[in-house]
Formats: sequence, structure tokens, C-alpha cells
Amino acid sequence: MDTEIVRGDITQQNVDAIVNAANSSLLGGGGVDGAIHRRGGPRILEECRRIRAASGPLPTGQAVSTTAGDLPARWVIHTVGPVHSATEDRTHLLTSCYVESLRLADELGARTVAFPAISAGAYGWPLDDAARVAVAAVRDAAPSSVTTCRFVLFDEAAYAAFDRVLHSAAD
Ligand code: ADP
Repeated sequence: MDTEIVRGDITQQNVDAIVNAANSSLLGGGGVDGAIHRRGGPRILEECRRIRAASGPLPTGQAVSTTAGDLPARWVIHTVGPVHSATEDRTHLLTSCYVESLRLADELGARTVAFPAISAGAYGWPLDDAARVAVAAVRDAAPSSVTTCRFVLFDEAAYAAFDRVLHSAAD
């Protein structure tokens, strides 16, 4: 699987699946979640509501998929990142977001998947560590239909953090 990083907006990516850093309610929020629902239109929220009604809140570290509505992608994979904690190591939950999203992408038959920096916004994860966990999780993931994993970083600081991790890993 190739791993690439771009600076940009995940809603504009021409990939099979984009990953949403959602919250457990699945009913929308701010940050990347807000952007996906705003640009993707109401069909995404309709499906999220159905999933929520059938299965309840989505646990942290798990993933579900919906249509991508009006977005260029075919699917949105919604995963719930852990809120960063200074007292408890929640790395395994952040790793799980990437692993479970890729597993679902494989079930869908997706070949190209775009991820945001999960938990690195409102959920307060330090960028360098969020980048380290993300890159390691994707690198260690089981073989799947996914041939390209693209990290889409919204701002320069996030891009720089992922760039550092990818380059130090290549040394
Ligand atoms: P979380 O609650 O998991 O921290 P956020 O949406 O608050 O999720 O932030 C996750 C990351 O997504 C942050 O680095 C934020 O800058 C970034 N982000 C926000 N909007 C977009 C977007 N349209 N495309 C890609 N990344 C985005």
C-alpha cells in the first residue's frame, strides 16, 4: 500500500472512500465532520441516523460506512477518535480508528482511501503523536484492497507533522 500526504480539504478528494473524524452520536459536529456533511448534502446524515437508530452510538475506535452523497468519493467511513488524555494512554483506540477504517474499506472494495488527522483537532491530540500513530497504524495494517492511503492535512502544521514522520521513517 502506498502512503501519501497532501495539504488540502478531504471533501474534495477524488478517492473511493474518505474517512470522517466523527463523534459517537453520528449526528454531525464541527471540524472535518461539519465540512463533510455540509458539502456532501443530507443523504449522509440520513444514513447516519439510520445506523444510529439501529445500532446506537458508535464506540470510540470503531467505524461504519455511508454513501458520500454529493462528494466525489463513493463512500464516507465514519470513525470515532479518542479524546486525548494526559493521564491515560489511548493510543490503541486511535490506532483502531485507522485499522477498522481500512478493514471496512477492504469490505467495500475501496482501492484509494483518504484520512484526516483523526483526533488532532477538537479532540486535542498533539499533532506529532497523532501523526506517528496514524502512519504506524496504516503501515502495520493487514493487506487489503486498498492500494493508496492518502493523509489529507488541512493546515500547514498538520502537514509538517506528517511529513516529519514519513521522512524519519524512510531514513
Ligand atoms: P477530532 O474531533 O477527531 O479532533 P476535528 O475535525 O476537530 O476532529 O479535527 C481533525 C483534523 O481534521 C484537524 O487536524 C483539523 O484541522 C482537520 N480538518 C478540519 N477540516 C478539514 C477538512 N475539510 N479536510 C481535512 N481535514 C480537516
